[in-house]
Amino acid sequence: MPLNIKRICVIGAGTMGSGIAAHLANLGFDVTLLDRSREEAQTAFDRAKRARPPHFYLPQTADTITIGSIEDDLDLIREADWVCEAIVEKEQVKKALFSLIEPLLKPEAMVTTNTSGLQIKLLAEGRSEDFRRKFMGTHFFNPPRHLKLLELIPTPDTCETVITEMTEFLEMHAARRVVVAKDTPGFIANRYGMWCMFRAVHSAEKLGLSVEAVDAITGPFLGRPKSGSFRLNDLVGIDIMQDIAQNLTLRCRNDSHTDVLRAPYSIQFLLEKGWLGSKVGQGYYRKEGRELVVLDLVTHAYRQRQEPDIPSIREYGRLPIAERITETLASRDEAGEFLREYLVPTLQYANLIKSEISSSVEDFDRVMKWGFGWQHGPFELIDMIGPEKLGIPGGHFYEDGKVRSFDGGYTPVKSEPAFKTTRDFPILRASEDYCLRDFGHGVTGVCLTTKMGVWTPEAVQGVSEELDRGKIKRLVLTSEARVYSAGYDLRHLFSLMQKENWDGLDHSLKAFQDLGVKLGKIPSVSAVHGLCIGGGWEMAASCCRTVASPETQFGLPESRVGVLPGGGGTGIMRLRMQTSAKDLADAAVRMSRGSLSSNADEARTHGYLRQRDVTIYHPDRLIVAAIEEARKVEVVPRPVWEEISGPVVGMADRELEQLKSRGERSDHDLHIGDRIKSIIGKAESFEEA
Ligand code: NAD
Repeated sequence: MPLNIKRICVIGAGTMGSGIAAHLANLGFDVTLLDRSREEAQTAFDRAKRARPPHFYLPQTADTITIGSIEDDLDLIREADWVCEAIVEKEQVKKALFSLIEPLLKPEAMVTTNTSGLQIKLLAEGRSEDFRRKFMGTHFFNPPRHLKLLELIPTPDTCETVITEMTEFLEMHAARRVVVAKDTPGFIANRYGMWCMFRAVHSAEKLGLSVEAVDAITGPFLGRPKSGSFRLNDLVGIDIMQDIAQNLTLRCRNDSHTDVLRAPYSIQFLLEKGWLGSKVGQGYYRKEGRELVVLDLVTHAYRQRQEPDIPSIREYGRLPIAERITETLASRDEAGEFLREYLVPTLQYANLIKSEISSSVEDFDRVMKWGFGWQHGPFELIDMIGPEKLGIPGGHFYEDGKVRSFDGGYTPVKSEPAFKTTRDFPILRASEDYCLRDFGHGVTGVCLTTKMGVWTPEAVQGVSEELDRGKIKRLVLTSEARVYSAGYDLRHLFSLMQKENWDGLDHSLKAFQDLGVKLGKIPSVSAVHGLCIGGGWEMAASCCRTVASPETQFGLPESRVGVLPGGGGTGIMRLRMQTSAKDLADAAVRMSRGSLSSNADEARTHGYLRQRDVTIYHPDRLIVAAIEEARKVEVVPRPVWEEISGPVVGMADRELEQLKSRGERSDHDLHIGDRIKSIIGKAESFEEA
């Protein structure tokens, strides 16, 4: 039976509690947030409402959360299907809270604790058997809206069915990727992740490498986020790093490698100064005006950033990652030295502690991929380099779709049908700019493969011809780039303009508009993520339905480059916003300014998404959800262009004039604005006119 969790009571309104409450409220749960007193809860929550990046997609979602205290609002605990504790990291305080709430709980309510360093089993001591069977740790990552990993930590008393049901609930309804971890210090992420973070600082100091050089080596070059090592330290917080490291050292007495967790010189220095990272405005990096200055690891003074020039990055940066790493490991420059000093020991350490802290190397790898944004987990990296070269016996960890278990045997890699990406489906046809994939169930994937999902004239023509052939009966339009689409190929447009090839320009725009019309005439779903703007939005919006990742920016920013939305976007917007003169005028101003909606929920209020479009809050479920929609979607007739009574043009004019008087718009912007609002304000459509 799937868990039927609707009401969630989060206790502790601090950094984590507020972030978790906000995340769950974003998803539509009925959330209450309690602290010691209502005043403390309100103060902490008000702080969370100002968090950057914001916890909420829409500020008004904050009003859906009920704020209360554990003294005055016990009824809220009685009603909860899940009580999610996130109070201070103190064993006795947490235990006292559990003893207080136990008699109030509904029989089927889940109870979880958030802790970075306490043993979950100890927190359940003294509680009834009934309490202990549905009690477990939920290690959320901060901020919960943006970091999808959740380590779920059962105790020996947690019921097996509860673990399965909670995993399923969190993955299917709470937008998390779950790894069930062992109840060992720091679980997987902090125990291993922190060791890697400290090792990087020690290695940099030992080799005399700069902060920028190490961040360049340990960023995308190593298949990791741009933050690299030192920017990550700043984001996590130097004090938090130190707390976790001290706790691990204290609790992992049998680990002979905890010397790595002693504070490196630069961490000692930053702690003394109180320069704890991003939250105080400075750490390894500091923003000075528009410039970012960096801490010199030798002099401990801030200095200007220097772009590192490292031969391996220059020479091997474009190679596939396995070759990139093996070539760099063999090279004599600073990147080679650093990888030998840092990467090799971190991989050996992963191998050493794997069975103590995780149930499988897959789980271990997933924690580093989902929680730290590594493209490849440590065991995948070991395989790339060759286990024997690292002195790791037993052969590869992954082979022929199988993964090595701790007893040396191989079991099939877990299949995850709910989280497939486009690349998990076979290619039917591929061209330079797009490919067609068989998404199963009679659905074809039309996937842009250009940089930033740009619609090139070749992609427009190719996809158009594919549709004309009539073999595609149902489709999902998406892209395999980092974002869905940054729009139409502006370089192509501008080259036609430069050559004053107006016929060519007309022809290109007509082909693009025709493609939009064709997309609307067959059962089609667009699956968008990251960026859905300009021509990208025009094609997505032409589909019968859109499924969107919440973290997607939407808009028609063409006016910013001095042109009108040319792929039918202005007309589509006119039809969507004809609910009132005010809505139309607002839409005209937004297009004239070229402003973007910052997420899918906001986009819905701005007309970039319709009522029938769907937001898929799970970052890894977009494609599977789009295929499910495409199997049932039906073609809907285009809405009729209605005459709107009310001074649409006048309202838009007033707003645009104000922008001009504030110096925010140029004359050309106003000219574009004029054109947009004259289309928007038209009494009848061009087709009818
Ligand atoms: P925090 O100090 O920001 O907030 C703790 C909140 O708990 C405060 O608002 C405090 O008033 C409240 N509180 C204290 N005692 C209480 C009680 N008896 N009843 C009700 N409320 C009480 O702490 P945080 O950073 O949000 O951490 C909360 C928990 O989550 C800790 O156990 C921490 O280890 C864990 N955690 C934190 C992070 C992180 O990045 N901050 C990450 C993962 C886990």
